[in-house]
Formats: sequence, structure tokens, C-alpha cells
Amino acid sequence: MYDLDGFREDLRNFGIELTRQQEEKFIRYYEILSEWNGFMNLTAITEFQDVLKKHFVDSLSIVTVYGELLKRNPFSVIDIGTGAGFPGVPIKIVFPHIRITLLDSLQKRIRFLEEVVKELDLQEVQLVHGRAEDVAREENHREKYDLCVSRAVAELSVLSELCLPFVKEGGFFVSYKSEKITEEAGRAQHAIELLGGKFYGQKEFYLPRSDIFRNLFQIRKTGKTPKRYPRKAGVPSKQPL
Ligand code: SAM
Repeated sequence: MYDLDGFREDLRNFGIELTRQQEEKFIRYYEILSEWNGFMNLTAITEFQDVLKKHFVDSLSIVTVYGELLKRNPFSVIDIGTGAGFPGVPIKIVFPHIRITLLDSLQKRIRFLEEVVKELDLQEVQLVHGRAEDVAREENHREKYDLCVSRAVAELSVLSELCLPFVKEGGFFVSYKSEKITEEAGRAQHAIELLGGKFYGQKEFYLPRSDIFRNLFQIRKTGKTPKRYPRKAGVPSKQPL
């Protein structure tokens, strides 16, 4: 009943071949998303093929830059402002061995994710309800992750303050962007350096078989984040560094 041919082809483009069980998890994820979206605002994208492309394939596009890194074991990832689980949940389905933390400041989204984790039988997933600014000060999260990902949460200067404190020295932070961000990146340069990061690269591309433009902006953590960052919840967005 669900046509997965295009999805399979898109993922093959990324070098991903799903098992039957992984395909079933993606379908089940779509079904829970549709069901809960009926009574809770989770996504404006609802049509099956659109969800496959704009949520699942998009989330997995990181494989084109960090495919090898994601195969490491042990490997830890945090998704800041994960919402309905993007990009974190698709990454977890394809790389079941990674330890992943999904963080969001909205409790109802965490409730939804509890259901997803249970229904898809995902292991080693930590769901955290809180503001990134607060959670980043907790010892068990600060500078504990090999990779931090975030999509559609804030502009880069703000996002760097929310995300870089979670990353270990030597680890990476990847921001999923849907446009060219030359000016935004320029504005964020100061913040990135202040927070112990260094511009590492960016990959501009179109999602397979589409005209949907994407940019994966990559920052490497090269030093520690000074203790005073992140500032109090709300300050990063009001007064970007
Ligand atoms: N990443 C998902 C995606 O791409 O579909 C959700 C994007 S949604 C536009 C932004 C999400 O970030 C919301 O779920 C919101 O609750 C969360 N968020 C915004 N600011 C946050 C913060 N300071 N700490 C934690 N979560 C935050």
C-alpha cells in the first residue's frame, strides 16, 4: 500500500540500503506522525511521499558528509530542537548502534517521541525535555557528544551557542539549512570562535530527484566552550553573540 521505490532510490544515492525491518520502522514512524498530527501540531508536511523526501531523506542527507563517522562505535549524537524527531530519528533508524539524545523544549513533542521510541523499539535513545541553554550546563550533557545536529531551529549565531557546548573537543556540529547562508555564516563567525568552534565546511546540494536545495553547514569543536556559555535561556536569541 505504501510506495517506497522512490525512497529506496533516493537513499541508494546516499549509499544507504535499508533492511526490511528498517523500512517498516519508517512506515510506522509515518503512521504515528500522521495520527498524532491530527490532534497535535507536529508538521505541515503530511503527504506520504512528501514526508519521505522532506523529512526522512532530508534528515539522512548528513550521510553524504559524515557517513563514515556515523559508523563508529561507540558514537553519540544529540539533536537540538528535534521537534517531531528530525533529523535524529531517521539517523537512529539507519544507524541503530549510535547513542542518541533528542532534546526539545516542548513537552508534548517529547510525549510524541516517547511513543515513537516505544513503537519502533528504538534502543539507547534519551529523550530530554528542556531548553538547550539549561541542559547544556548539566554535567552529563556538556561536551559529551561526538556530533550535534539541528534543523530549522534558529539562525547560526544563535544556534552555535545552543549547540556547541554539547560537543566534545574534536567533535562536530552540523546545521541543516535550506538556503545559501553566506551572510548568516558571516554573522556567526565571531560566535563560533568564541564558543570553541571552527568552520569546517559546507555542502550545498539538491535532495535526490528534486529541486529542493540544502546546505549542511559543518563546524568542528577545536577547543572548550567557556563556562559562561550558553547564556541564560532566551538570551542567545535576543542578543546573538
Ligand atoms: N528539528 C525539527 C524539524 O526540523 O522538523 C523541528 C523544527 S521546529 C521549527 C523547532 C523546534 O525547536 C521546536 O520543536 C522547538 O520547541 C524547539 N526549540 C526552539 N528553541 C529551543 C531551545 N532553546 N531549546 C530546545 N528546543 C528548542
